[in-house]
Formats: sequence, C-alpha cells, structure tokens
Amino acid sequence: MIYRSTRSSAQASPAEAILAGIAPDGGLYLPAEFSFPGFSSEETVKKDFYGIAADVLFALFPEFTRSEVETLVRAAYTGKFETEDLTPTVPVGENYILELFRGPTCAFKDVALSVLPHLMVKSREKCGVTDETVILTATSGDTGKAALKGFQDVPGTKILVFYPHGGVSAVQRAQMVTQKGENTFVSAIEGNFDDAQTGVKNIFATFAKENTMAGTGARLSSANSINIGRLAPQIVYYFKAYGDLMRSGRIAFGDAVDFVVPTGNFGNILAGYFAKILGLPVGKLVCASNANNILTDFIRTGTYDKRRPFFQTASPSMDILVSSNLERLLFLLSEGDDKAVAGWMKSLNTDGVYTVPAALLEKMRTVFCGYDADDAEAAKVLGKVYRDTGYLMDPHTAVAWSAAEEYRLDSKTQNPVVVLATASPFKFSRPVLAAIGEDAEGDEFALLHRLSEKTGLAIPQSLGELEILPERHKSVIPKEEMAAFVLEKVKG
Ligand SMILES: *Cc1c(COP(=O)(O)O)cnc(C)c1O
Repeated sequence: MIYRSTRSSAQASPAEAILAGIAPDGGLYLPAEFSFPGFSSEETVKKDFYGIAADVLFALFPEFTRSEVETLVRAAYTGKFETEDLTPTVPVGENYILELFRGPTCAFKDVALSVLPHLMVKSREKCGVTDETVILTATSGDTGKAALKGFQDVPGTKILVFYPHGGVSAVQRAQMVTQKGENTFVSAIEGNFDDAQTGVKNIFATFAKENTMAGTGARLSSANSINIGRLAPQIVYYFKAYGDLMRSGRIAFGDAVDFVVPTGNFGNILAGYFAKILGLPVGKLVCASNANNILTDFIRTGTYDKRRPFFQTASPSMDILVSSNLERLLFLLSEGDDKAVAGWMKSLNTDGVYTVPAALLEKMRTVFCGYDADDAEAAKVLGKVYRDTGYLMDPHTAVAWSAAEEYRLDSKTQNPVVVLATASPFKFSRPVLAAIGEDAEGDEFALLHRLSEKTGLAIPQSLGELEILPERHKSVIPKEEMAAFVLEKVKG
C-alpha cells in the first residue's frame, strides 16, 4: 500500500509516512487507495480490543507483518489501562457512552499515543533509519502528556512538547511539567494552541526548505493527529463500541450506529469516517464543538472562516480554530483533488477563509452534522445527567452530550447513539464541581479531592500523585523562539 499527500502527488510507504508525520509539501498522508484486501469488518467487529487493533493496523500498514502488528499492540496496551477491555461502552440515559479515558493520562489521546511509539520504532527498522527521531508536538493539553508518556525513554527518540501558557488546566500543566525521562522536553509558549500548532508546522516547513537537520543526526516527526500513525489506532474503538452493542443484543451486524464526537482537530471524528470506509455500519457522525464553533459553522455553510474571536473555554482541548484533519476529509470528498485542497489551505493561510463547492458540502452532510454548546449549556447537561443518572462526565464529553440531545430532536434517529467520552472528569475538577452545584473555589489539587469526596468516585492514581512530583520543565518562551528551542534540544 502506498500513501500520498493531500496537496500533491508526493508518495510514501506506510512506514515513511509514520516517520515523517507530515508530507514535504505540508499536506497530510492518506492511503492512495482505500482498498483493504482480506479485511472483513464483520469478522473484526467480533474481536476484543487487541484483535481489532491488530486487524485495523495491519489493514492500514501492510508493510508490517501480521505478527509484528500483534506484538506491538500487546506491548502498547497490556497493563496500561484501568479497565480490562480498555474502552468500555456504558449505557447512560438514552445514549451510550464510549469511555476513552481509562488510560495512563486520563484522556482519549492515550489510545493512539500508547501505540504510536511502537509503530515508529518498527518504522525506523523498516526504513533502515538510524538518525534519532525527534517528535515535535503542539498540545492543547492532553496530547502533550500522552505523547510524553508514550515516548518516555523510547530508544532512538526525543520528544518536545509545546503548550499554550495559561491555556491548559493546572492538572494538565502539572502532568507535563513533572514528566520524567531523559529524552523528554516541554515548554510553554506565549500564545494560544493555534500559535503552538502553527509554530510546529512552520518548523517542519522551514527546516525542510533550509535543510536545517542535515548533519545533526536527527530528523523531525510529529505525534499530532496529522500523523497517520496517530489516527489509525483511533479507528479501533469505533469497532469496539459497535461490537459491544452487538454483544449486548442491542443491534445486529449491519444496523447503523450514530456517533457523537467532541471535536477540535477533527482527528477523532475522522477516525470514525475511516471506520465507515473500512465497512463499519456507521450512521451519522455528529461533530460537537464548544464556543469555538468553526467546524459546526463550516458544516452549516461550507465556509471555513478563522477570522473570529478565539475563546478559552472549560473544554480547552477543543479550543482550536485550525482543524488539521479536515484537510483529509476534503481530499476524500473531492475524490483526490489535491490542487483544490492545496488551494483551500493556501487561502486559509493567507486570507483566513475558504469556501468549498456546494456539491462537496452536500456530500459531507450525508454523513456529518454538527452542533455546538457553550460552557453554560455544557455545564447544564453535565449537572443534569449527573442528577438524573449518577454518571459524571467531563466538560468535553458534556459538549458532545448536548450535541447528542440536539441531534436526537432534529433527526428523530432510531439508531443507538454513542457519545465519545474523551477525558476523565478529574482532569477538569473545577468546571465539573461547578456544574454539579458544588463549591469550585480553591487550588486544583484541593478540588480533585473535593470532587472525589462529593461523588464517591476514586481519583485516578496518575492524577493523585501529581501533587508531590517535582516540576522538571519550567520554560516559557515567545512563539518566535520555538525553532531555537528545538535546535538546542536536538543538538544538546
Ligand atoms: C484532543 C481532545 C479532543 C478533540 O479531539 P480531536 O481529535 O482534536 O478532534 C476532545 N476532548 C479531549 C478531552 C481531548 O483531549
């Protein structure tokens, strides 16, 4: 199988695409053809998480052998998650909640970032790469820690993480700045997440153009969802949830299931679209946005316009105005029109806006719809669901739950509706306590304990211990100095 860029005819093998993260023309890698010989969604859906993961990764990365894939899946996940089946599906009210936050850093990013380092190590082998792989990551809060944890002390790699100063929760910050490992580096930047993400993308582009890495014995790669190796493992839990609904007797294979996905970079929801392409009977994919509702506006109007205020919300991991992975969807919906995609991305960069043709928008709407909820609406449903059912969700999941309710009203869907839960409520104790009507004043670690006392739920161990760990990464830099920070760490 060959991968190709969304912006030109540039090609790469699966292992090359995983190692590079982003195509040389700034585009994102996708399979050149979506044909997967030997893959049967009906067979795969019956397997456990490990079995599904092996099937999906083998289908997308056939350069690896079946046994290599099985081995790396075991190594990635065994003993790392709180729950035996990694991503449980729980009935709550009239919906199902797909819990993706039972991993080591309490956010759904763990599902992909537990396995990406293993994919990279294998890819280094396949490509005969001996240069050090330097992972550059921009984070709105959750990717950073999950990537640091995944790559900590992985031989042949360094990991550098940039997060927006003041733009992540105290717990998220503590998770990153206390990170151990000789190969881990973290800095805050003075700016928001889009500044961090744009800064990282610019480093890739200028370093490639100016050949900056030549002679350093290192090469850059990405752990953001621009990397296809990050996206592929996220397909797995859509199959897993579908299988759970089959086992519970709720559906038979072939019945459509709707998924509601709290979205930022459009990565998680795009993985659902990939699952559909792979043959999973996905009904609607409902895109849920917070006050930064650029994606739901786009699905409504066909115009993607980032010339708007940026809001810091109670669901910071979705505070994003430039959604990288939408580019992949546009490429697929335009049937591989790389010139059109390159044009839209150029307009976005220079003018801050682009509009897609009506036919493309229509096609998108056959699968996708979108709803947004601001902090007040999300808090309201968080509190209500807790009072009505006893289920406590985090603010990102609450945005999705609110979208699910609106979607049900509009569509009158008869399909099971699965809401993806992307973070533990303990990661965002302050807005969660406020939403359930409890005192939310005090420092964030006091709030962790209060949330536990008030709800009777246990604090996840990896969050409880943060309070006593020493801070190792205190750097805060202007965004203009990101490139220099990278070079210093590469050479150091
Ligand atoms: C990253 C993240 C999201 C958004 O996921 P995308 O793949 O960027 O759409 C939603 N919720 C949480 C908790 C996250 O960490």
